[in-house]
Amino acid sequence: MTKTWQDSLKTALKGNNQNAMRAHADFSPQAGQLFAPVVTSSVNKQINWLDDQDPLLLQFLPHVDELTEAADFHSDPVGDHLSTVVPGLIHKYHGRVLLIASGSCAVNCRYCFRRHFPYGQSYAPRNHWQAAIEYIKQHQEIHEVILSGGDPLTLSDKTLKSLTDQLLTIQQVKTLRIHSRIPTVLPTRIGNSFAIWSESFGLNKVMVLHVNHSNELSNDAIKAIQKLKSLGFTLLNQSVLLKNVNDSAAVLIELSHHLFKHGVLPYYLHLFDKVQNASHFDLPESHAIEIYQQMKKHLPGYLLPRLVREEAGEPSKSLINIK
Ligand code: SF4
Repeated sequence: MTKTWQDSLKTALKGNNQNAMRAHADFSPQAGQLFAPVVTSSVNKQINWLDDQDPLLLQFLPHVDELTEAADFHSDPVGDHLSTVVPGLIHKYHGRVLLIASGSCAVNCRYCFRRHFPYGQSYAPRNHWQAAIEYIKQHQEIHEVILSGGDPLTLSDKTLKSLTDQLLTIQQVKTLRIHSRIPTVLPTRIGNSFAIWSESFGLNKVMVLHVNHSNELSNDAIKAIQKLKSLGFTLLNQSVLLKNVNDSAAVLIELSHHLFKHGVLPYYLHLFDKVQNASHFDLPESHAIEIYQQMKKHLPGYLLPRLVREEAGEPSKSLINIK
C-alpha cells in the first residue's frame, strides 16, 4: 500500500528514522530530550551519514553543543510574546498578521528560533480559528495573513479550508502567505488534496520556502515546487545563515541559482536568531557581512536575498547595511 504524507509525518514524529543519527559521534541523547530529534525519510535520504560535516546532518542532529547555555542567547529571541494579541496570533508588522497555525513540524531544525515556544498556549486553530478571525475582522488595515508555526502544512487540508473559508468573508484580506519547510522535507504533502484546497480560494497565494543549502533540493522536492508553481503560488525562499552549514558565499550563490532554476526567488538571508541551546550555529556579524559582500559581487540583484536580522520589539526586520 502507498504511504500517505500523514503516515510519513507520523513516522518522523515517532522518531523511527533516527537510527543512523543515534550512531553518530556528536549525537547527544540529552540534547534530544531538550528538543526532540525529528526528520522525515526524505531528509534521511539526502543526508550523507559518512560525512561529519554534512550540511543536512548538522541541521538535524541533536548535538552535544546544545547542552551549552550561552550568555546573550534567549528562549524567545525575536519577541513573539511581546506581539501576541490573541492566542496564536502575532501582530508585529503593519498590514499583516502571523498565525501560529500548528505546533508541529515535519522536521525539528536544531537552530529553530521557536524551539522553546510554548505551542500549547498559542494555537490559532482552536475553536475553528475563532479568536484570530475576530481580531482580523476588527482591523481593517490587515490585508495579508501569514501561516507559520510550527509548520502550517502539518495541518489537514480540511482544517486549512476552514480557515480560508472564513478569510474569504473578510473583504480587506487579499493575500495568504504560507511559511513552510514541508515542500522540501515532506514533498508528498503537496498532493491532490492540497491542490484541491489551494484552488478553492481566490486569494493571492505566496509560499515562502525554507532552504538553507542546495543539497536539500531533492528530485521529489523539485517536483513539489513545480506543483506549487502550477497552482499559482508565488515562490520565495528564506535561509538562515548557519555556521558550518552554509557560511560560505559559494554555497549561497549556488543555492540562489538552483532556486531560480526552479522558479523560486531568494527572499531573506537571516542572521542567526540568538536562541538558547543553539549558539554553536552563530557566526559573527562581521563574517556574515564578508560573505554577503562576496554574494553581492557575483549575483544579479534579483538573486540576492536581503540580509536581515529580526529584533524583538522592532516594527520590521532590520536590513543589515552593506557597502
Ligand atoms: S521547520 Fe521552521 S518552525 Fe519547524 S523546526 Fe524548522 S525552523 Fe523551526
